[in-house]
Amino acid sequence: MSSQAKRHLITSAIPYINGIKHLGNLVGSQLPADLFARYQRARGAEVLFLCATDEHGTPAELAAAKTGKPVAEYCADMWEVQAKIAEGFGLSFDHFGRSSSPQNHALTQHFAQRLAEEGLIEEIVTEQVYSKADGRFLPDRYVEGTCPNCGFDSARGDQCDNCTKQLDPTDLIDARSTISGSTDLEVRETRHLFLKQSKMRDTLDNWINQKADWPVLTTSIAKKWLHDGDGLQDRGITRDLDWGVPVMRADGPWPGMEGKVFYVWFDAPIEYIACAGEWVEAGKGSDWERWWRTDKGADDVRYTQFMGKDNVPFHTLSFPATIMGSNEPWKLVDYIKSFNYLNYDGGQFSTSRGRGVFMDQALEILPADYWRWWLLSNCPESSDAEFTWDGFQGGVNKDLADVLGNFISRVTKFCNSKFEPTIPAGGAWGDREEALIQELESRLRAYEAHMEAMEVRKSAAELRAMWAAGNEYLQDVAPWSTFKTDPDQAEAQIRLALNLIRIYAVLSAPFIPTAAARVCADMNTLDMAWPTDIRTALTALPEGHGFNVPDVLFAKITDDQVAEWSERFAGTRD
Ligand SMILES: [Zn+2]
Repeated sequence: MSSQAKRHLITSAIPYINGIKHLGNLVGSQLPADLFARYQRARGAEVLFLCATDEHGTPAELAAAKTGKPVAEYCADMWEVQAKIAEGFGLSFDHFGRSSSPQNHALTQHFAQRLAEEGLIEEIVTEQVYSKADGRFLPDRYVEGTCPNCGFDSARGDQCDNCTKQLDPTDLIDARSTISGSTDLEVRETRHLFLKQSKMRDTLDNWINQKADWPVLTTSIAKKWLHDGDGLQDRGITRDLDWGVPVMRADGPWPGMEGKVFYVWFDAPIEYIACAGEWVEAGKGSDWERWWRTDKGADDVRYTQFMGKDNVPFHTLSFPATIMGSNEPWKLVDYIKSFNYLNYDGGQFSTSRGRGVFMDQALEILPADYWRWWLLSNCPESSDAEFTWDGFQGGVNKDLADVLGNFISRVTKFCNSKFEPTIPAGGAWGDREEALIQELESRLRAYEAHMEAMEVRKSAAELRAMWAAGNEYLQDVAPWSTFKTDPDQAEAQIRLALNLIRIYAVLSAPFIPTAAARVCADMNTLDMAWPTDIRTALTALPEGHGFNVPDVLFAKITDDQVAEWSERFAGTRD
């Protein structure tokens, strides 16, 4: 893992536009990406952190139709909703773009043309179900009917959910459109562009083989797709739809492809690049190519992608095939951090059944930092994880309220009542302080190593241990007792503890940015410098420096709240 990298390009998997995501989606990409971006910025690295909405495809068209809005308007509205929620969670994207942007249209067409020029595009005539009533071709999963294998009456055109048999839409008995219900369907020929991924297999294989530092979870998924069965398959990259990037060359029309769009899975990852162009257009940056073109300055960039495990094949194979196939010097991903799934209280999150907590609801009931801390410190890293209300209550109350919050509250209140709300000057540090400094130094080095390696749970555990070390120190030296016999010594102890509050705020900010900013405001300091050396950092707030006693930083979650929320988010059925 490169701790020397000073420029970090970071992307989170881009959320689909049709609805608000649940906490499992959040912790599977955006939130850990934000943690890493915030940490790297705190260490002085130059960071470009990008995310966007994934807006094309049939599900967006259908969701828009349900609301009665034109699809472009629906997507624009939903982008606003998602952007606002992301802001509410403190996701510090340098830009939150849209895959429907002009920049992505242009780049998608550019890549398609380059791939064609490299001989990697083939035009193939395929057969597809056409619905006369809907006036459109139907994607396989929008055709339903009776399964010829088991008789299940709602089998989809790609697979029967009852017996799991893989199907073609033409296999179905009494096939109908799931959009209109019409049975007036016919099979028509239609011409599509296919990306000849099979020709890229050796190139991709060699590239994956160089990634010795990638987790086995990531490389094994990629290898399976490369080699299982007939190996990596060529893939259709166009669709007969209205909503999407029109199939054109960058320099003009694509004869025979009129009225078609690129498949959403082709254009969505290209938005990672296009988003940097949007970032420049929004006036937030001046040169996006120095992040994305190795011939224009991106050579020293380290590029990390965050995603759920279901997205790994597209990011290890399909998107790299697009980039490498173009034979242009685009930046390739250096490290993929993938996550397992977060389950909800003994089952899965379910949008259709309203089961589990969704991002907007989470912010309605508690501040973002409560969720950020619990989700990150319990994130599904090496295996799936489970959200339970008891676990959430326990984690928040113990870690945030009892350990961190309590330390800050006790120290500031004690100082305010016995001395003044300023850093006291008396006394000197001795052996116990020395022992604490040693412990914090060693834990801080471990914390930095885990953060650099994106070991999220281990990072959280080390941070928690640093908070606990401060509490143990306070218990041991008991300034409230010392004060009775040796007020000077009590001043030295409290001087250390008050400075430790600032250090905690700086170290905790990647996890709980809002609380950290509040603490720094209360401590009356703008000094967010990383405590590279603990001993020096413990003198950052000088003697006589004034502060305000903070209000309660983290309120405890009550049993009544847990009972209420368990019921509210249990879902409507099953
Ligand atoms: Zn079946």
